[in-house]
Amino acid sequence: MREMILGLPVDQITYEDILTDVPKFLEGNQKMSIISVNPQIALEANKYPSVIDLLAKSTHRIPDGIGVVLVSKMTGGKIKERVAGFDLMVKLLEYANKTQKKCFFYGAKPEILQDAIKNIQKDYPNLIVVGSIDGYTKMDDHEIVAAMNKVKPDFIFVALGFPRQELWLAENMGSVNAHVFQDVGGSFDVLSGHVKRAPDFFIKTHLEWLYRSLSNPTRIGRIVQLPIFVVKSLWWKMRNGND
Ligand code: UDP
Repeated sequence: MREMILGLPVDQITYEDILTDVPKFLEGNQKMSIISVNPQIALEANKYPSVIDLLAKSTHRIPDGIGVVLVSKMTGGKIKERVAGFDLMVKLLEYANKTQKKCFFYGAKPEILQDAIKNIQKDYPNLIVVGSIDGYTKMDDHEIVAAMNKVKPDFIFVALGFPRQELWLAENMGSVNAHVFQDVGGSFDVLSGHVKRAPDFFIKTHLEWLYRSLSNPTRIGRIVQLPIFVVKSLWWKMRNGND
């Protein structure tokens, strides 16, 4: 089931639901596309019609932000918990490790990508890294897609930040022969060890967004996004109801 938040569809799903679906999509013909819905994307998506279209067509739109969960609760929705893109990616890596699946990593700075892959290979030795391309490559989309198709990945993780990763997926997912796609923002930075995740206290109290905004000057503007998102979403819900 999905619900509409600020005009965008978000699925009422948990980590368990998604992990249950993964093997079905790995065996079937339909592509699994996991896209994060957070206050930033909800506030800015109207500038990018293809991102709205991507969300409409995606199989799993995850409530990746406490703001989304909060608005759902305040408006009688059924979203139970935050599904954090980073945590979900880790669970998918664990799954790929257990089942020896092939993974492709696209995005982040070259040295970050290299270190992230080193750590992934160390922590998930049975997962097969079939390829990677950094997010500042001179390759065009055609070449990137060809490089992916050559190695037939099961999972593709795209870490170009919003909106580049969503725009890239909207444009290219149809041409890539892989089963599971996820947009993962700054996750390679965390996996590389170059960027630390918020301390437990902030994660447990749902204040990870605040910690990340305060600890990175380029993200400071995002502090105001959460209250703006909540107010706009409530207003939207009052005018549109559930659809
Ligand atoms: N990035 C990239 N190519 C670009 C712009 C960004 O590969 O042209 C990467 C960047 O290096 C970082 C990630 O995309 O690894 C974006 O991280 P950010 O923290 O901005 O994303 P968020 O987690 O907020 O979506």
